[in-house]
Amino acid sequence: MKYIPYGKQNIDEDDIKAVVEVLKSDYVTTGPKVSEFEKKVADYCGAEYAVAIANGTAALHAACMAAGIGPGDEVITTPITFVASSNCVLYCGGTPVFADIDPHTYNIDPEDIERKITPKTKAVIAVHLTGQPCDMERIHAIAKKYNLLVIEDAAHALGAEYKGQKIGSISDMTTFSFHPVKHITTGEGGMILTNNKDLYEKLLLARTHGITKNQDVMERCDGGWYYEQQSLGYNYRITDIQCALGISQMNKLDRFVEERRKIAGIYDEAFKNCPQVTVPYQMDECKNSYHLYVIQVKNRKEVFDKMREAGIGVIVHYIPVYTQPYYRHNGYDSVICKNAERYYASALSLPIYPGLTEDEQQYVIDKVLEYACL
Ligand SMILES: *Cc1c(COP(=O)(O)O)cnc(C)c1O
Repeated sequence: MKYIPYGKQNIDEDDIKAVVEVLKSDYVTTGPKVSEFEKKVADYCGAEYAVAIANGTAALHAACMAAGIGPGDEVITTPITFVASSNCVLYCGGTPVFADIDPHTYNIDPEDIERKITPKTKAVIAVHLTGQPCDMERIHAIAKKYNLLVIEDAAHALGAEYKGQKIGSISDMTTFSFHPVKHITTGEGGMILTNNKDLYEKLLLARTHGITKNQDVMERCDGGWYYEQQSLGYNYRITDIQCALGISQMNKLDRFVEERRKIAGIYDEAFKNCPQVTVPYQMDECKNSYHLYVIQVKNRKEVFDKMREAGIGVIVHYIPVYTQPYYRHNGYDSVICKNAERYYASALSLPIYPGLTEDEQQYVIDKVLEYACL
């Protein structure tokens, strides 16, 4: 059996053709494919505005900039996420505050969000871990009560549904990543969705150096060449080459998500009689899009090492962010989130991606049963 990674892209001839067409066109960086891709994702998710951007981390950074996060502001997020979800707050000079996770869903616990609120709290960044939607109703109720902005880091959740609604249109802003392990890929890439025009304008400025050519908002106009830098932004542009791939990949998103759900169902069934393996929690009224399939096993280190030896690219999502040396050395050394640490001690991500064959999945199942269910 060849090495089985935990996730990987699924690119076919259609995708390749779409990219080659752009290479032969007049635009290789910002051209018509950027807005076409933005519209495609916004329509799919039911959002009004979309800003395609260099990567998922840039999407989070731009969202924090648009939210006006700055020194003295606190932003509450989960420790069980990729470091980008809280680094984006640091980029803006703000302070990430970690709320513990719910022990069943592994997502941020709304009760702990409320406990961590101070007069400095400005926003919440909710991460839909694995593609399992967070408890958005309760998060929004808290946000309303304390006047906070809600940003969803939906890097795992393209195609997921919360109470009949696609993730992407529920909060002030929702960010996605199109890294090759995610649901669809553009190589590197990201997007922010919003229904708020004011936030949309700020996101556009964040993407291009704070520069605008919109005469309605300029302080003056010296002529047709004139543009204004109105804030400090970045070069976070994405290219037409990448967006052509993204458009082509979007055509297959529903099939990709369906395939991930099918693989998850087979894992669920295979482990249901093995008490040593805890399978993902099934939420009512929500549809997980299964970017990841995370099990909990007591002898995680042993299972991890043996599965790696067997050529299976299991991995751990995630190490609690506040335990990273950079965070510990910058004021987080006394932070403890008990549920997050308990989760981290036993978590293991199994391979899941469209294109994982039945034989490969059976091999993974056999090895989990062999090493975890002795
Ligand atoms: C992948 C990921 C990101 C960052 O996306 P990039 O495109 O790699 O910058 C942010 N948050 C989470 C939860 C992710 O999984």
